[in-house]
Amino acid sequence: MASRQLVYLNGEFVPHSEARVSVEDRGFNFADGIYEVVRIVGGRGFRIEAHLDRFLGGARALEIELALSRDDIREAMLETARANGVDEGTVYVQLTRGAAPRRHAFPEGVRPTLVMLAQTFPGPSSSDREDGVSVITAPDLRWGYCEVKTIGLLPNVIAQQHAKCEGCYEALLIRDGRVTEASHSSAFCVRDGVIYTHPIDNILPGITRRFLIDAYRNEGVQVEERAVAVEDFRSADEVFLTGTTTEVMPVVGIDQAKVGTGKPGDITRLGMELYRRDLEAARTGGAG
Ligand code: PLP
Repeated sequence: MASRQLVYLNGEFVPHSEARVSVEDRGFNFADGIYEVVRIVGGRGFRIEAHLDRFLGGARALEIELALSRDDIREAMLETARANGVDEGTVYVQLTRGAAPRRHAFPEGVRPTLVMLAQTFPGPSSSDREDGVSVITAPDLRWGYCEVKTIGLLPNVIAQQHAKCEGCYEALLIRDGRVTEASHSSAFCVRDGVIYTHPIDNILPGITRRFLIDAYRNEGVQVEERAVAVEDFRSADEVFLTGTTTEVMPVVGIDQAKVGTGKPGDITRLGMELYRRDLEAARTGGAG
């Protein structure tokens, strides 16, 4: 089937083997997109209006701007089924924010990627329907696995976009009232000379975070890996972020309120210096 299958790709039908999307597509990099599966029965879309409602609602929620109208999309779905001779089957529709250099925040002026594939589907197996099936139970982890550096970054993308819209560098992520990390960096606060950061428990174990914790401790600065309430971040003496591209970044404001003196603090500056030294040592072939 696949070899003769025609794929709808951004307004054109192309053979399956020739259909390509960019390696920088945000669906690939960030799971930044939505999909829909529509049943085709007797060559017609089954409950197609409800599927269109959900699809267009999802695109609106993610602020993905479609150049196509609802009618255009409906027609493309049905045409994908017709072009593949699918009378009884499904049309899979995927929309992503499009291809752009990899930055979390939404790119500007980028055309979304719209792909549709049709395949024959006779319905679930009749013996399963007759006899019934068994299931297991599993935790709902759709937004979990934060300790794995997965490409399932849509929540991070949305948080970063909100930060950008507020003219901010980053978004601190809050779970159960506590700061876990930030959208693409690790988060620290300093209170009365002690540094606090969330333990490695459903957050990304940042490489830079680990280096800084050890480096501070070597300098005799106390570091506690403990979850801290967002209020304690707001009223902290200092707040800073760390990451491979963030390095050690002082935070001087949270939600438009000043942190500490509103200037990078001494403990943060020490971390910046420890980081800089390690980077320089690595550059010249030393530590790192
Ligand atoms: N936390 C999140 C969610 C990140 O995406 C990143 C880096 O991309 C970090 C923390 C910082 O990790 P590292 O220091 O390994 O770059």
